[in-house]
Amino acid sequence: MKNRMHGLPPELCVIGGGASGLAAAIEAARAFRQAGVPGQVTVLERLPRVGKKLLATGNGRCNLTNRFASPPDYFEAADFVRPALNRFSVDDTLSFFASMGLLCEEEEEGRIYPMSRQAASVLDVLRFEAERLGVVFHCDSRVESVQKTRDKPRFVINGSICADAVILACGGKASPQHGSDGSGYALLRALQIPVAEVFPSLVQITADPKRVKSLKGMRVHAVISLYEGKKQLASQRGEIQFTEFGLSGIAAMQLSRFVSREKQRQMEASLDLLPAFSSGEVADYLAARVRQNPALAAEHLLTGILPKRVGQVLLKQAGVEPLSRPIGSLRGAEIAAISDLLKDWRFSVTGTRGFSAAQVTMGGAQRSAFDPESMEALSTLGFYAAGEVLDVDAGCGGFNLQWAWSSGRLAGESAAEKQISDYRLQTSDQG
Ligand SMILES: Cc1cc2nc3c(=O)[nH]c(=O)nc-3n(C[C@H](O)[C@H](O)[C@H](O)COP(=O)(O)OP(=O)(O)OC[C@H]3O[C@@H](n4cnc5c(N)ncnc54)[C@H](O)[C@@H]3O)c2cc1C
Repeated sequence: MKNRMHGLPPELCVIGGGASGLAAAIEAARAFRQAGVPGQVTVLERLPRVGKKLLATGNGRCNLTNRFASPPDYFEAADFVRPALNRFSVDDTLSFFASMGLLCEEEEEGRIYPMSRQAASVLDVLRFEAERLGVVFHCDSRVESVQKTRDKPRFVINGSICADAVILACGGKASPQHGSDGSGYALLRALQIPVAEVFPSLVQITADPKRVKSLKGMRVHAVISLYEGKKQLASQRGEIQFTEFGLSGIAAMQLSRFVSREKQRQMEASLDLLPAFSSGEVADYLAARVRQNPALAAEHLLTGILPKRVGQVLLKQAGVEPLSRPIGSLRGAEIAAISDLLKDWRFSVTGTRGFSAAQVTMGGAQRSAFDPESMEALSTLGFYAAGEVLDVDAGCGGFNLQWAWSSGRLAGESAAEKQISDYRLQTSDQG
């Protein structure tokens, strides 16, 4: 691909061999093949192998899309993602994978997994298809510069690799151990393409360690809400997992984008451990337990509704000591304190575990700098972006990978179509 001359078949270069880059490469190579144009698609990947992050997705099972994925799942980017999701919908994603032999199954809340329940199957079928189509992989190839030239070829990568079109698919900054170290942002800035501030999302929320340490490893089903003083900022229902540092589990991670972005605010996380019951019903439940068995040791008061250790920590925080006391000795104020904590257990939020522990990046290549119908940069024709490097993120459930497939395929298709028509023009001129 070095030192190309004007008039040769198109060269399309994809930077990053992750989910969106592989989808883009396959779509472009298919388009060249279908058009009978001898275009070359090359993937430049900084790691020794492509798709390392894909292998880690969905706890190794790869939740590759969600039956219900639609623009509002992408927060502020809803309008921007619409054309890509319309062009390459969830059904298209399933057909795309079925065309490569990968069959999928739906689980709860519309989450879709490969039938094998192995992320490796997803990566394998993408690699096999790319190889079948003649896509060239250059691994251990970190891209450090992309320069725009005045004429064809339009771009020079790392000073020597020429390309007529470039698709930037190098991910964001989350989980750099899987390859995406944020290096794409420098490439964008060098081309004068603006980058919105980035924050870690889908990440553990950190809280006062003294409060959570004794709960480490415990899981509860609850409603978690973020508060600044009395103002509720956001809320989620689902599993919460206590860790050494704070609160994890899907519901807590879904709220982490607010914590990351609003880090200057003093926030508290409130857990409602009994969301199906009103405060009055909780108080009635506790009173009935006391009436029914007043000799019961206090440490067992919450045994029927919470994991044992969670109940004991909560009782201690309500001031019930020693826990061997009979529940018949609890005063009204103590019962009220227990009832209050069950409905509104507060943890002061200190931040998040950061990019190294995050699953996605909020922020990135500014959406307004790209045409959502093609993923092409408005100021740098021939330069496209796809996936998480763009300022698009969503919650857990397969939505982020759906964006990687839709945007990657749209960028691949658009870039190839433009190269195909340029090539046809050139060859007909020459004829
Ligand atoms: C642990 C974990 C679990 C997840 N689980 C799910 C899930 O189940 N479902 C879901 O929808 N989403 C999940 N996600 C999010 C999802 O994986 C990402 O949103 C998606 O992979 C983004 O795709 P991408 O192609 O934009 O970037 P990436 O997949 O990050 O790929 C970018 C690639 O570019 C390479 N690269 C970076 N910089 C350069 C450079 N300068 N030169 C060359 N190559 C470069 C990287 O090495 C990498 O291979 C998970 C994320 C993590 C971390």
